[in-house]
Parts: sequence; structure tokens; C-alpha cells
Amino acid sequence: MVALPIYLDNHATTRCDPRVVEAILPYFTRVYGNSASVSHSFGWEAEAAVEKARDQVAGALGAEGREIVFTSGATEANNLAIKGSVAFLKKKGNHLITSAVEHKSVLDPMKRLAREGWDLTIVPPDEFGLVSAESVNAAITDQTVLVSIIAANNEIGTINPIGEIGRVCHDRGVVFHTDATQAVGKVLLDVQRDRIDLLSLSAHKIYGPKGIGALYVRRREPQVRLVPLFDGGGHERGMRSGTIPVPLAVGLGEAVEIAMNERDEEATRVGGLREKLHRGIAERVEQIRLNGHPKKRLPGNLNLSFAYVGGEALMMAMRDVAVSSGSACTSAEPEPSHVLRAIGLDEDLARASLRFGLGRFTTEEEIDFTVGAVSDAVARLRSHSAIWSSRG
Ligand SMILES: *Cc1c(COP(=O)(O)O)cnc(C)c1O
Repeated sequence: MVALPIYLDNHATTRCDPRVVEAILPYFTRVYGNSASVSHSFGWEAEAAVEKARDQVAGALGAEGREIVFTSGATEANNLAIKGSVAFLKKKGNHLITSAVEHKSVLDPMKRLAREGWDLTIVPPDEFGLVSAESVNAAITDQTVLVSIIAANNEIGTINPIGEIGRVCHDRGVVFHTDATQAVGKVLLDVQRDRIDLLSLSAHKIYGPKGIGALYVRRREPQVRLVPLFDGGGHERGMRSGTIPVPLAVGLGEAVEIAMNERDEEATRVGGLREKLHRGIAERVEQIRLNGHPKKRLPGNLNLSFAYVGGEALMMAMRDVAVSSGSACTSAEPEPSHVLRAIGLDEDLARASLRFGLGRFTTEEEIDFTVGAVSDAVARLRSHSAIWSSRG
């Protein structure tokens, strides 16, 4: 028997890997110094642990340790990247570019800057949620100073051509930021090869602890300068004041390293389970739509819309399987997903969508159960639907 409920919401957050927990524990009770304390060994030991974590994060990106700024997560990293860089860039121009399929922690800072007087272009994706380098290039003007494009989408899993976009931005002299929160450990990114100037990531999306993330900030060719969001003790070379949560930093470093080491193996296994889930549902349920790119997508992502089914009812019927719906990304926002709307779904179909997020701890038995649960739920709901019965 499979244990219920089943967790298939790994784009929202992940279970902390036991190896990560193991690595973190000594830093609560044994090595508990402040990594900024320079006058005693408690501080030095903590600092050594933080610097190791910094190198682990940098190593995964082809960066140097001193280009990594620890933050509280990807939301802060995105805000720091965008608000922090434009404060320096405003003498060069007043135009910003992002896409319609960004996470809210990129879209909302961009929209705030637009209200404050910046020109903002929101590039539309194609029908699969892909943002092309050509569309970014076409949006760049002589006033453009910053482009921010998500590396891999958290709702539909589509992987963008980050290297191509990076090269376009580099050639046109524009700073390029990418929210790589979902991509790290799944898509190989290299800040040199891909010409990335700023990159955000978060530990809790890659089996690390909640409450820490990082921003990569390019130091050479060109150096990207940031105005900090917080002033204070001048930690993180002045870019992010505040005592570093040493246990969380250690956890982030460990999580990144495990994710890199096991990337290929995990992608194969999780991708196989995702295909099994998709095939299983497609064999049992008609009139479904796959959202996102058929090939260029995260191995653990499956996003499906079920015509003639109410979104709310569908969620209710899925009580044994934890998934996300195409509405109410946060409960404070009962809107249909802006990402599904951007790839052309109407409001009803967007609401009648489910995001399955498979991960490191997902088992084959859980997928078998989910195929049955989804198929039964949709069949039951449709049998009660007047539109379904009268569709002819
Ligand atoms: C989860 C997520 C974020 C926010 O990360 P936090 O660390 O929770 O602030 C940002 N962008 C993407 C793509 C995400 O999936």
C-alpha cells in the first residue's frame, strides 16, 4: 500500500534531503559562531563553513565564490538583482525587459519599477511558454539596461534558451538576469558560456532548507554593481547586510552539490516517471491538453488541462495527491495562472489545470496511484457535467 497523501508539488517546495539535514546539524549546536566574528575560532570555523558553501554554489555555475551573495531565498535574490542593478543602470537608459511567464518575484518588482517611471516591455512566450532569443533581441532598444528571463518555468516546466538570450544581451551591452530557481540541478547552466550577469537560486527547491538562496553577481567583463536592499553590517561585500544563517548556508551548499552530482541519473529516473504519469492519464482520459514544451521541459514537470471540468472541483477531488491547480498560485490571489493565460488558455481551462511536480523522493507506486486518482476524479466530475454530456 502506498502511503497517503502523496506529495507531487515539488515546484512549490521539496523535502529536505536527509544528507542535507545531516550536514546542517552540527552548525546549530557545535559550530555556532557568527561567521562575521573575526577575533576568535568560533567565528573562523563558521566562516570556513560559509566559504565552503559559497564555493559549492559557485562551482555549480562556473562562477567564483566571491561572486555569490547569500540571500533569504530566490524572492530576495530576484528583488536584489532587479532593484539593486537598475539603481546603478539608470544613468545608461530607462528600459527594462522581462517575459510574461516569470515568477511573481520578478514580475512584481518589474511592475513596481514601471510605476516609478521605467519603460517596461513584457515579451510574450510562444504557445509552449518558450521565450526566444529573437523576441528578446527585437525588444532591445538603445535605452535597454536590464533583461530578466526565467531559466525554467515553475508552472509548465518549459526550459528557455538561456545561452542564446545571454549572448544576445551581451552583444547588445545589456545586463542579463535569470531566475534559475527551478533550473539549478536540472539544467546545466554556466555563467561564462551562457553570458549570465545575475542568477537567482533557492535551496528549498532543490532539497535544501527553506530560508536561504543566493544571487550570482558577475564581477568581471562586466562587473555588475548593486545597490543593497538592506543597509547594516556590510556583510556579503556590502550587497546584503545581516548575519549569515550558517546552518542554512551549509545546507544550500550541500543541496547544490548533491543536485549537480546526481543530475543526470535523477533526470532519467524522474523523467521516466513523468512519462509514465502522462501516458497513464492520456490512456484513460480524453480531451486533455499538455501545457508547456513537449521536449524542452523539466523532467519532473507535468502540467495538464482537463476540458469540461471545474478547477475547484478537480482540486477537491484530488485530496489524496498534493498537486497545484491552475488558479490560486497563492491563496491571496484567486486569479487563474498568468503563465497559463500567457500561453493562450482561457480562464476556465487555466483553472481546470493541474501541475504535477515529481521529485527525488517520488516512487513508481505513487505514480500508479496518481494515474488512477486523476482518471477517476475527471471521469466522475465529467459524468456530473451537463456540458460534457451534451457536447455531441
Ligand atoms: C519558488 C520560486 C521562487 C521563490 O523562491 P523563494 O526562495 O521561495 O523565495 C522564485 N522563482 C521561481 C521560479 C520559483 O520556483
